[in-house]
Amino acid sequence: MPLTELIIDGFKSFADKTTIHFGDGITGIVGPNGSGKSNVTEAIRWAMGESRAKSLRGNNMRDVIFAGSEFRKPLNRAEVTLVFDNKKRDLHFDSDQVAVTRRILRSGDNEYLINHQNVRQKDVRELFLDSGISQNSLAIISQGRVDQILNSRPEQRREIFEEAAGVLHFKQQKEEAQAQLEKTNDNLIRINDLVKELE
Ligand code: ATP
Repeated sequence: MPLTELIIDGFKSFADKTTIHFGDGITGIVGPNGSGKSNVTEAIRWAMGESRAKSLRGNNMRDVIFAGSEFRKPLNRAEVTLVFDNKKRDLHFDSDQVAVTRRILRSGDNEYLINHQNVRQKDVRELFLDSGISQNSLAIISQGRVDQILNSRPEQRREIFEEAAGVLHFKQQKEEAQAQLEKTNDNLIRINDLVKELE
C-alpha cells in the first residue's frame, strides 16, 4: 500500500503548502539540522491520528500549527493529507486511491477526512489498524525509538508482535465490547433496583 503523496500545509515548519511525491523505490529526505526532516515523519504520524502531543515534541496539540517566524505571521490552522495507492485494497476502503486528511484549528478543533468526507478519528485509526502502518507500528521509527523498543517491557514488546500479526485490531474490538457489556450490566442493575422500588 504505497504512500504516493504527502501534502503538508501549515504544519510545524511547513508554513507553505508543500507536496512530497514518493516514487517507486527508496526516497531519501536530506537537509541541514533543524530544516524539518523529522517534521515530515511527524506529519505522517499526526495525520494517522497521533493524539499524544509529547510524541510530536510539543506540549499541546496546537503546537503543530506553524507558530510564525521572523518574516511570517503565525497561522491559524494546519493540515496534512496522505495519499495512498489502494489498488490492491490493502486498506479496507473501496477506492483505488485513499486520501486521509487531518486538520487542526487554533481553537483546538480537529477534523478528519477520508477522500474528502468527514469521518471520526476512530475511523482513521481503524483504517490503518490492519495495514501494518498504524501510528505505533514499526513502519515509522523516529529518533530514539530503537532504544525505546529494545528497553521496552515484555508486555509492550508483545503488543508490537500482536500488531504485526493483525491481532491488535480484534483485541481493541474485544475491549470495546467488554466496556459496552459492563455498561449494559450496570444499566440492568439500575433498572432492577427501580423495578423493586416500584413494586
Ligand atoms: P535534525 O537533523 O537536527 O534532527 P530536522 O531536519 O529533523 O533536524 P526538525 O526537527 O524536523 O528538523 O525541525 C525542527 C524545526 O522545526 C525547528 O527549526 C523548529 O523551530 C521548527 N518548528 C517546530 N515546530 C514549529 C512550529 N509549530 N512552527 C514553526 N516552526 C516549527
